[in-house]
Amino acid sequence: MNYLFEAVKVVGLPVAASDAQFPVRRVYCVGRNYAAHAREMGFDPDREPPFFFCKPNDPQSVVPVPAGETVTLPYPAQTSNYHYEVELVVAIGKGGKDIAVADAASHIFGYAVGLDMTRRDLQMKMREMGRPWEVGKAFDYSAPVGVLHPLSTVGEINQGGIVLQVDGDTRQHSDLSHLIWSVSEIIANLSTLFELQPGDLIFTGTPEGVGAVRPGETMLAQIDGLSPIRVHIA
Ligand code: MN
Repeated sequence: MNYLFEAVKVVGLPVAASDAQFPVRRVYCVGRNYAAHAREMGFDPDREPPFFFCKPNDPQSVVPVPAGETVTLPYPAQTSNYHYEVELVVAIGKGGKDIAVADAASHIFGYAVGLDMTRRDLQMKMREMGRPWEVGKAFDYSAPVGVLHPLSTVGEINQGGIVLQVDGDTRQHSDLSHLIWSVSEIIANLSTLFELQPGDLIFTGTPEGVGAVRPGETMLAQIDGLSPIRVHIA
C-alpha cells in the first residue's frame, strides 16, 4: 500500500515465557466496577449495569511495560489532578458477539496488570456537563499495561490481591473478588454491544483509593500471580 505517510504501528504486548507479542486491537474500559470505588466517586453501587468507555489503541496511548523495567511517562497536559487506577486487564484471544457468561472464559487469552490513568479534573468537569470523557480518559500514554500471562498457564482469575503503591506507600488495596461484575459477566455484556475480536483489551475497573500522582513519583501496580508494573512520572 502506498500510504501518504507511515501508517501507525500496532502495539504489541509482551507475553510471559514467549517471544510472540499480543497485537492490541481495541481498548475497552469498565466504569465503577468496585462498590467502594463507586461510592468514593459519588454513586450508589447497587449493580447498575456495567458501562464502558474506550481508550485509543495506538503507541501514543497504550504503553507496554516489560517485566522488571520501569517505564517513564510525561506528566500530561491540562491537568493538576492526574490519577492512578490499578486494574486487571483481560486480553481477548477469541472473538464473538452475544457471548454467554458460561462461555466467556474460553474467549480470554490472558491477563495483565494495567493502569487506567485519568485526568480526574477534566473527567469530572465533562461528567458535570454531560459531555464525553475522552479528555479525562483517552489522552496520551493513558494506558500502561504489563506482561500478559496466558490463561492456559495461570488459569482463570477471579480473586487475588490488587495493589497500587506510590513510592512504597500503599494507596489502593483490594481483591478481585470484589468486582461488582465478574470478568465473565463483563465479557458477556460487552459482547452484546460490540463484536469482540482477538487483540481486544478490557480494563475491568479499579478498586477504591484512587488518587493523584505527581512528577518525580513512581507507581508500582501489582496483582497476585501477574507481573507487576512500575511507572515513573517525569
Ligand atoms: Mn478505570
